[in-house]
Amino acid sequence: ISLETIIPNFLKQRAFLTPNRNALVFENKTWSFAQLFEKAKDYAQTISSLGIKQEDTVALLMKNRPSTVFIIHALQQLRVKAVFLNHRLTPSEMTFQLKDSQAKLLISDDDFKHILNEIHPLYDSLPLLTFKELESLPKKDIEVVKEYMLSDICSIMYTSGTTGNPKGVLQTFGNHWWSAVGSALNLGIRDDDAWLCTVPIFHISGLSILMRSVIYGIPVYLMEQFNETKVNTLLQTGDITIMSVVGAMLQRMVSSLNEQGYHSKFRCMLLGGGPAPRPLLEACAEKGIPVFQSYGMTETSSQIVTLAPEDSLKKLGSAGKPLFPSELKIMSEGKVNKPFEPGEIVVKGPNVTIGYLNRPEANQNSFCEGWLKTGDIGYVDEEGYLFVMDRRSDLIISGGENIYPAEIEEVLLAHPNVEEAGVTGIKDEVWGQVPIGFVVLNHSVSEEELISFCRKKLAKYKIPKKLYKVESLPRNASNKLLRRRLIEIIPKDMEI
Ligand code: ATP
Ligand code: MG
Repeated sequence: ISLETIIPNFLKQRAFLTPNRNALVFENKTWSFAQLFEKAKDYAQTISSLGIKQEDTVALLMKNRPSTVFIIHALQQLRVKAVFLNHRLTPSEMTFQLKDSQAKLLISDDDFKHILNEIHPLYDSLPLLTFKELESLPKKDIEVVKEYMLSDICSIMYTSGTTGNPKGVLQTFGNHWWSAVGSALNLGIRDDDAWLCTVPIFHISGLSILMRSVIYGIPVYLMEQFNETKVNTLLQTGDITIMSVVGAMLQRMVSSLNEQGYHSKFRCMLLGGGPAPRPLLEACAEKGIPVFQSYGMTETSSQIVTLAPEDSLKKLGSAGKPLFPSELKIMSEGKVNKPFEPGEIVVKGPNVTIGYLNRPEANQNSFCEGWLKTGDIGYVDEEGYLFVMDRRSDLIISGGENIYPAEIEEVLLAHPNVEEAGVTGIKDEVWGQVPIGFVVLNHSVSEEELISFCRKKLAKYKIPKKLYKVESLPRNASNKLLRRRLIEIIPKDMEI
């Protein structure tokens, strides 16, 4: 074993180095790193009393609450792997993930007791505990782990299941470490930094904030539920310097932001999770909101490509360049593409997962000599800035031309009466495939008007052959559009 592969227990080290700094702020309560470490040790003792030990896996069905942070760190004190359940999954989807990850125990928030009651008949040998039940257990004397191997698995997180069934991603301590370091080398770390976490901890966007907090020694401001008014007010106080958002959250924040804007200490709105509509980026630029577009996935332990501050206006729409420890290339048919040639985005770096759990085929198909094939299509410009276009699996090929649904959706969304848009391809005798669109409207507008709106901005072959007005679009538990399900929502009396 070489020395580089070993690192001290993150929280233990942080509590030793800077015990009095703030670690966690929730509503009106604050915990220092020393207090957080005490809490983590405390819960590690209760969890140990159940016979859970190093290398075991424990599943969490928990909201963005301090208790969740305590339990996550408790598991890390024992070097028990944590698997995170999205609470919007159905009980049978949860049961799949529980079995697949071989979790020995499921801990839930007290208000998820009803979900536990639904999981129990599906998986009756799995011990289930609410947080309150856990707290009343006896404690077992333990010693917290002193060090981690960077290759030790810290968390198992399932992908959102946008392109197929969710896959369990193995995230090592090294992945989290390098992800945090890569981000710090781009954004810097300041004395007064504080990161607002309103994105779910069960996603990598949320968990990575907790990891950075401990590695950097900065506080996390935790919010149970995203609320644009509450967030906007908080960003005006100067308490927060960085916040992670997805497009839909940022949209709501921008719409309700008053003249005052954000406090000058607020320095980074880290935007990720999906495509960022250009009008939103422009609105943010106009309001002086420091948006950092980023690209990443569960497999890369959060962002792997981020647009540096000095480029955010110059390269509007780009996801940026890779973080320092990471690399990217664009490939088609086994060859590296030239600038501006779209192809599959392939990434590499110490933040990239070592593989999927129990998915030999996906592992075989996705990894090649240390590189991860992301399944996303994009291109780089002559300076190496990444532009993400769409998912490979959603590509529409019409008369030999590639059509990216995201491009058409962006145009539809630019219409003021369109609230949501989804585009997919259907079989066509002449062209092979043609695009069709689905829109959720906020004000009535005719199909003809929307089509002619598209004509102004899109080449002829990209114009949807048909547009369906629908009440809602199919989305997964992470609220991502499921284009593969669009075909199922064609209104019965309107089939073409
Ligand atoms: P599954 O892998 O199960 O289909 P998923 O890919 O949606 O689900 P996540 O890991 O949560 O699961 O999401 C990562 C994906 O989100 C990326 O692969 C990419 O398709 C999309 N994404 C992330 N950032 C961006 C971005 N800046 N622009 C466009 N798409 C993005
Ligand atoms: Mg994916």
